Amino acid sequence: MRRRKRRLRIDRVLICLLILVGLICIVRFTIYTIYGFKILNQAKKGETVKLYHDNANLWKSTVKYINENMDEITYTYRNYTVTMDSSYFKKNMNVKPSTENKKITNTEFLKQKGLYIKNNNIMGIASKIKLKLPHYLYKNGYVDLYGIDENGNYLLLESRKKVDDKYFTLNIYENYSNYFITYVKLESIKTTQSYTLTEGETKEIKVEFNPSNATNKKVTYSGYDESVITVEHGLIKALKAGKTTVKIKGNDMSIAKVKVIVEKKKEKKEEKKEEKPKVTQGEDGIYYIDGIMIVNKSYPLPDTYNPGGLLPEFMNAFNEMLGDATSDGIKLWIQSGYRSYDYQVGLYDMYVRQDGRDTADTYSARPGYSEHQSGLAADINNPSSSFNGTSEAIWLKENCYKYGFIIRFPEGEEEYTGYKYESWHIRYVGKELSNKIHEAGDISLEKYYGIESKYSN
Ligand SMILES: [Zn+2]
Repeated sequence: MRRRKRRLRIDRVLICLLILVGLICIVRFTIYTIYGFKILNQAKKGETVKLYHDNANLWKSTVKYINENMDEITYTYRNYTVTMDSSYFKKNMNVKPSTENKKITNTEFLKQKGLYIKNNNIMGIASKIKLKLPHYLYKNGYVDLYGIDENGNYLLLESRKKVDDKYFTLNIYENYSNYFITYVKLESIKTTQSYTLTEGETKEIKVEFNPSNATNKKVTYSGYDESVITVEHGLIKALKAGKTTVKIKGNDMSIAKVKVIVEKKKEKKEEKKEEKPKVTQGEDGIYYIDGIMIVNKSYPLPDTYNPGGLLPEFMNAFNEMLGDATSDGIKLWIQSGYRSYDYQVGLYDMYVRQDGRDTADTYSARPGYSEHQSGLAADINNPSSSFNGTSEAIWLKENCYKYGFIIRFPEGEEEYTGYKYESWHIRYVGKELSNKIHEAGDISLEKYYGIESKYSN
């Protein structure tokens, strides 16, 4: 009898304990769930909410905007705006957002041989890696790839890179050990309201994108009177006098309109002596003609000038060209883009030791005199004379002007450029100038502007 009584007491205590633990669990779960959803519900359109996570910096960000359907959240991370599926947030919102929380980690990336991921950055030694993109990135069809240098600076390596499926092949760039992949959603586009041209004139339509670092900057042009103008690759060509409107559509469906007035060419040829524009040196020490940066043997860059990589205008144009080249079955890649002053010091010295100064000067630039320091020039595929005449070189020569590039050292222009023919070296000058140079017969920049390219000593 006594023993039974005692056992009963222990059972009761155990049952009570179990109920208590159960209650605690239910309360905890409820609190976390409510707390999580509360944060999401708080972040109504335009409001801001902070999400913290110490293991993945990606989440240490501010929600800027939730769309009407609550299925997309736009938030800022460092200086970038990222749009992602809110279901991903909802899923993770069920846990307490705190700095101790280790549950939120991005597991969508695949670990590959010779590669590991830290704080959502890919750190690896393989020359190429394949990784799985999270849904919110690949569904947009395009991504931007940033390299992160030792100082934590983000540099745009590839803009508007097409992603066909969940898998993304990344070329590991030597100078960067960390990478960041993102998609920046385009909000709206803006353009000059009207242009006035005379018959035969060409003009580039300037389109402003908001935000300026939007990933997909592809726009389409339509609605204009084809007898008055043509529009190709953002360049208006005035055919005959008249008025028309160009409808510009961004990939976000936003629309901008430009009025174009074409005036008759004046019959009496006013013999206006076309004064050659002059080279001017900016406060930054850089030489320009009409806003075009000039770098050659006569016009060096300051040794302190360092854009840190290829400039976005180069990358945007290059990626546009890449898309069309790929459709034509032509593979193009950047073999050598930005080169710093210090890098050129070593390179030029090596060539001088190898071939002597006079010979080295015909194919390699002295430090400060290399266009590679500008962030606006690059060598494509294979920087050697064996690239001349290949289908890639021919395609490049015939098409690069459509995207704002010129072959910087054309064949037969050695006396103007001071360099032998380089079929692989392209320079970004903008579509307006590249078209003019193309119409002038793909001549060199020096011949076009009537400037020299000679070392002073
Ligand atoms: Zn080059």
